Amino acid sequence: MTVQNISTGMIINGKTVEAADKEVFEVLNPANNQIVGVVPNGGKEDAEKAVNAAHGAFPAWKRKTAGERSALIQKWHDLLLDRKEEMAKILVAEAGKTINDARGEVDYAASFLSWFAEEGKRVYGETIPASTTDKRILVINEPIGVVGVITPWNFPAASITKKIGAALAVGCPVVIKPSEYTPIAALKLAELAIEAGIPKGVVNVVMGRANEIGEVFLQDPRIKMISFTGSTKVGKILMRGAADTVTKLSLELGGNAPAIVFDDADLDRAVESVMATKFRNSGQTCVCANRIFVQESIADQFLEKMIDQVSKLKVGTSEDPDADLGPLINEDAYAKIQKHIQDAVSKGATLEYGGDRIEEYENGYFVTPCIISGVNEEMEVWNEETFGPLAPIITFKDEEEAVERANNTPYGLASYAFTENLSRAVRLYEKLDTGIVGINDGLPAAAQAPFGGRKESGIGLEGGHYGLEEFLETKYVSIKLHE
Ligand code: ADP
Repeated sequence: MTVQNISTGMIINGKTVEAADKEVFEVLNPANNQIVGVVPNGGKEDAEKAVNAAHGAFPAWKRKTAGERSALIQKWHDLLLDRKEEMAKILVAEAGKTINDARGEVDYAASFLSWFAEEGKRVYGETIPASTTDKRILVINEPIGVVGVITPWNFPAASITKKIGAALAVGCPVVIKPSEYTPIAALKLAELAIEAGIPKGVVNVVMGRANEIGEVFLQDPRIKMISFTGSTKVGKILMRGAADTVTKLSLELGGNAPAIVFDDADLDRAVESVMATKFRNSGQTCVCANRIFVQESIADQFLEKMIDQVSKLKVGTSEDPDADLGPLINEDAYAKIQKHIQDAVSKGATLEYGGDRIEEYENGYFVTPCIISGVNEEMEVWNEETFGPLAPIITFKDEEEAVERANNTPYGLASYAFTENLSRAVRLYEKLDTGIVGINDGLPAAAQAPFGGRKESGIGLEGGHYGLEEFLETKYVSIKLHE
């Protein structure tokens, strides 16, 4: 799929610029390894320029009324939807999405802009009764300042809007460092922001040497917060680095989501939801079910239905409008699936379906969606997120065992449970140790709801009014009166 009119420079202070040292790198299409675009390979100097621009833009952006900022973000939202096909083609080309997944992501990305455009008008303060008659206690909320935003490749547009929609709405300028696999979507978003009238310097984009740019975000005192989505490994690097400058962090890290199907579930609906949470975006989301627990009494039935559904999934390129799954992002992603299958099978699991590389697309990373059964705690697939279309099935006897094993992971982002028993549903959402619980719902994410993980899955929240609060600092004002 060809992408036209793509921007190929970084965006600093409203201008499209090359890297200080003029270096570039190629962005490749994971479906065919062809070049999608050539973009600057930036580093420290470029990040510093972007921080200068954002810092310069802060006072005027902060001074605008919430209504003025809201109108600009809403305009940006409208432009994004006007250019939906253009953006979807970028997501197809650089992230390998199917055209349906890509269009879905544009809608999802836009939903954060409209939500935060509205919610930004509702940043309230508080007055608190004082202990003496001559005092007044006020609590006000202020934008934290310039935010460094680091995002991954699996949602190249939505992972940005869910952060910067909120940051911008409350008055914070941003410097975005998108994934090197998918920088073009970020550039397009920033171009649209500028076209919408968002002042120069409020949205900046730099990309290239991630560790150098990350260092600037960590060390420059003008960066007040880093909002990161990516691996737990890099999240920990940022946490260590943030200690020196006590920089605030918001971290959306890896997951290892359990989906638990009980024998009292509506089985067909449960299968449909497990399919949606497992295979959305070709299994490349941090909330994808990574361990599917099925009660023993229905295990055979469930497996049969899953195999039937998975065998109907169509893998293909974006040229095929009916494709359910596209390519994986790169060779490493393909290798990880193979490793998880081989490791599990060598420890006693059974490969029930799929897992082959589709040779027809020799230059892309296409794999048939796969199912393995007989999975347990000893296997890599239990302990690590596969981030691909591999469904590992685990059987359990009773609720207590299911909950205990589901929680047996250092991660705590999302979990799913399928049951028609209300009391059981309540017990489950109370006991599952994750930031998000879907009860009979495989796709819980929504702009108005909080999204965030526990344990090693992260710190902080995105979405809803919670997402706004991340970018605010509370100030307590005490006034003593002359009586
Ligand atoms: P993923 O596996 O989803 O690509 P990563 O955590 O590797 O997850 O990458 C997420 C984002 O973090 C990307 O934009 C990447 O360039 C960036 N990144 C990687 N290493 C660092 C680092 N040392 N400092 C700052 N950002 C980094």
